[in-house]
Amino acid sequence: MRILESYIHGCWHASSTQGIVTQHAVTGEPVSSVSSDGVDLSAAVDHARYVGGPALRSMTFPERAALLKAMGQLLIAEKEVLYELSAATGATRADSSIDIEGGAGVLLGYASRGRRELPDGHVLVDGDPEILSRDGSFLGIHIATPRRGVAVQINAFNFPVWGTLEKLAPTLLAGVPTIVKPATPTAFMTEAMVRLIIEAGILPDGALQLVCGRVDGLFNLLDGQDHVAFTGSADTAAMLRSHPTLSARSVRFNAEADSLNAAILGEAAVPGSDEFSLFVTEVVQEMTVKAGQKCTAIRRALVPTPQLDAVAEALASALAGVRVGDPADADTDMGALVGVTQREEVRGAVMAMRASADVVVDHCEFHGVNPKVGAFLAPTLLRASDPNDDAVHTTEAFGPVCTLLGYDGPDDAVRLTALGSGSLVASVVTPDANEAAALTLGIAAHHGRVHVLDAIASANSTGHGSPLPTLVHGGPGRAGGGEEMGGLRGIRHHMQTTAVQGSPDMLTAVAGQWMPGAIRHVGQGHPFRLHFDDLELGTAIRTASREVTLDEIENFAHSTGDYFYAHMDEEAASASPIFGGRVAHGYLVLSLAAGLFVWPDPGPVLANYGIDRCRFAKPTYPGDILTVWLTAKRKTLRAGTGYGEVAWDAQVINQDEVVVAAYDVLTMVANRPGINGAPVPDGTV
Ligand code: NAP
Repeated sequence: MRILESYIHGCWHASSTQGIVTQHAVTGEPVSSVSSDGVDLSAAVDHARYVGGPALRSMTFPERAALLKAMGQLLIAEKEVLYELSAATGATRADSSIDIEGGAGVLLGYASRGRRELPDGHVLVDGDPEILSRDGSFLGIHIATPRRGVAVQINAFNFPVWGTLEKLAPTLLAGVPTIVKPATPTAFMTEAMVRLIIEAGILPDGALQLVCGRVDGLFNLLDGQDHVAFTGSADTAAMLRSHPTLSARSVRFNAEADSLNAAILGEAAVPGSDEFSLFVTEVVQEMTVKAGQKCTAIRRALVPTPQLDAVAEALASALAGVRVGDPADADTDMGALVGVTQREEVRGAVMAMRASADVVVDHCEFHGVNPKVGAFLAPTLLRASDPNDDAVHTTEAFGPVCTLLGYDGPDDAVRLTALGSGSLVASVVTPDANEAAALTLGIAAHHGRVHVLDAIASANSTGHGSPLPTLVHGGPGRAGGGEEMGGLRGIRHHMQTTAVQGSPDMLTAVAGQWMPGAIRHVGQGHPFRLHFDDLELGTAIRTASREVTLDEIENFAHSTGDYFYAHMDEEAASASPIFGGRVAHGYLVLSLAAGLFVWPDPGPVLANYGIDRCRFAKPTYPGDILTVWLTAKRKTLRAGTGYGEVAWDAQVINQDEVVVAAYDVLTMVANRPGINGAPVPDGTV
């Protein structure tokens, strides 16, 4: 039996007293002793705030992304250590891979998004500047900066690795230190993972701490810069949420709680259709993966009332093919629950539901194990005698349990789904797009995610039960009302959004991004001849001017095939309330502008990889004279590549100084030789 340790203030700490003893899910033998007695929680909070936080905040977003990448790679390399331990949780290898490799995948996913999509700095600028005065001398912007506190995460037992990492990835990327408190039954997995990360020396001191055992008194230490991210049952969420310190000090509290997720078989998915089979497969999968111990598992299967018998029969037949037994056996489809206590809770929940539901399936053969010793339970399919009865919509049996309910028409399906009082996810399974739209829009307000499944999506669907780092995880009402992940949305939960008002030059300095109206630095020659390292924000060129002729418009139409009337038909263009005469193609204006601002020779600008935010603000008429203002707006170093990305603010103006086109030109600009991995030409140092 392992005595689990907490990692606090840079040291591992073992409790001197006997803790709660957890048991092997299959053999019933003791696995770990869990106690936080003697752990100084106040020291942990201080260490996070005053050591971990400053260290993380001193790093740029790409530097923090590199930490996530190193952690993800480490856990992939060391995964067998975790797989071996995971056997004691009752999980099959496939179940464990969701937890272990899925968790590493979240780290790597966030690492890559952070590197590609976040600025090479410390501040996120949210949206475009708001012009607050007529002359443009007073602007407003929104910025996000890391909160100066600690993120406390309290996790459920079912995904001890993934559950920790899906919270840790966005938190670290945001620049906020974390204290992890895993659930007692599987804390040994989280402890082993944290130990791997700490021993690899990847993270700065104080960025990650671990408390195995109770955290009594911790909430009293928190304040308005801190964040509690909870995952677990709705009851525990409700209890923790009402902690007086959280409300008195406005401590952010995010809850991912339990959820009576539904899958709806559409009326168009008749027996024999691909979608009917997909529905059956999805329900069976959600009942049996992790022995149904997933917050996202399908608990309520809604089917058109006339199809109830056919669905019950198909599910019973599919469940008969599920091999339940020793999770270490490669042929096993479903292993054990995490422990016998959990199994008894599930049995209790099933009993509560049976008052208004009949049993369709609740027996199976257990292969190679003694079900009296291990925490084994047969997949259990119920059929509600009254779909409106409360029990099925309010009782979470956190195991391999699902209830079939009949519905009469789409409105009834939507109404019954909503009786779950808010869920993490629902699946809508139908071949009919109109039915999919009606059901999805009907249930969306009660869900954090809707998975629409048809034959086309099925080949590549990630499935009903898999939260993805790129999509929002969380749901309203009973599901906790929280939100996690969702790509870069997830990092904003750990940052403070601040509206900042001021002059363009002040806001340029604050945001690290050139603002319209701020000083332009001209006179250093053409900015495309400057290396990334020598380019200052605001470095600009006002180009030479050139006339747009009718011949050019006609030639452009002939070479591209774009004969839109506004460019080619004088009469129709004159009658147009927008143009009042023939105008140049917007794309011709962009091309002529490029001809004005590019520097033709090879130089630091390696490539133009796109434009952003393009608007054709006013028409350009034959005879107009165009000039371009090109200004270095934003710089993002791409570490180790020899270049950085530069976004240029481009304003194409006419002879009256009126902007006719505005956009960002996106370029890759080389570092000086030898810097950031940029090649050094032969013969030079
Ligand atoms: P739980 O009993 O509610 O416990 C969740 C966490 O809260 C555990 O770490 C637990 O620690 C801790 N906790 C309990 N009392 C506490 C207190 N007074 N102060 C601080 N922490 C406290 O849930 P569980 O049995 O671990 O997990 C199963 C439940 O989680 C299911 O209902 C499932 O639906 C839900 N879940 C939801 C999601 C989601 O993303 N929405 C994901 C997974 C699971 P101890 O273990 O030490 O008591």
